[in-house]
Amino acid sequence: MNALAVDNLAVTIADKKIIRGLSLTVPRGEVHAIMGPNGSGKSTLAKVLAGHPDYVVTQGKVTMDGEDLLALEPDERARRGLFMAFQYPSEIPGVTIANFLRAAVQARLPEGEELEATDYYAKLYEKMELLGMDRSFTSRSVNEGFSGGEKKRTEILQMAMLEPKYAVLDETDSGLDIDALKVVAHGVNSLRGPNIGILLITHYQRLLNYIVPDHVHVMVGGRIVRSGRKELALELEERGYDWTREEAREMAHT
Ligand code: ADP
Ligand code: MG
Repeated sequence: MNALAVDNLAVTIADKKIIRGLSLTVPRGEVHAIMGPNGSGKSTLAKVLAGHPDYVVTQGKVTMDGEDLLALEPDERARRGLFMAFQYPSEIPGVTIANFLRAAVQARLPEGEELEATDYYAKLYEKMELLGMDRSFTSRSVNEGFSGGEKKRTEILQMAMLEPKYAVLDETDSGLDIDALKVVAHGVNSLRGPNIGILLITHYQRLLNYIVPDHVHVMVGGRIVRSGRKELALELEERGYDWTREEAREMAHT
């Protein structure tokens, strides 16, 4: 099966156990949401998938379409079709979005293959059309003085241009105003489809008012304690996260 599959993963940072036996499969064509209280290890999972060197995998494996993801360097993961979006993208003064994206697309091409300007701009404008973005946006410098929503627009456009097989979006709690939230939601909804698997990490149920996931997973204490369909997100909104901590404690004793 074509999927991003995490199997019995355990991760430590600075000798502290953060992820404790986590399993999760995101098939191509589906949108999965991970929700959970602060400190449950959601961003840690995203960073491990990205290949952040500080995180030590002590157990388990991660495969992408059957290939061992953890054996690949971060840039190789990206080249094979993994896209990661983090909350705080860097500012690159003096580099326009158009040029930045062009370099990003060029970097994914096989050695010696040159990206033609006309092809590139045709694709860029096609994706912007799809996402309902104004063309003038791409002449601005990357993230310089951008609002939260504009940063998200850059990120979503990058995702559209790279056409990844799997996208992991860590939409951490702070800094997501309603504008940014809607950009992410509109982007994900425009780009979702049979060729991409999306893992959407969020603390907030309200993002899922705009993106209806195929599956919802609740992460507490470094584990998935509940999985369900979209209704699970509504249940979390009503009941909060306290009850999931109980379940996590019970699981820890078994
Ligand atoms: P979430 O994204 O669910 O809020 P995180 O993955 O950011 O959770 O954090 C999970 C736990 O790991 C927290 O207790 C946090 O303090 C710890 N942690 C995360 N990154 C580091 C780090 N670089 N050094 C030490 N502890 C960390
Ligand atoms: Mg986080």
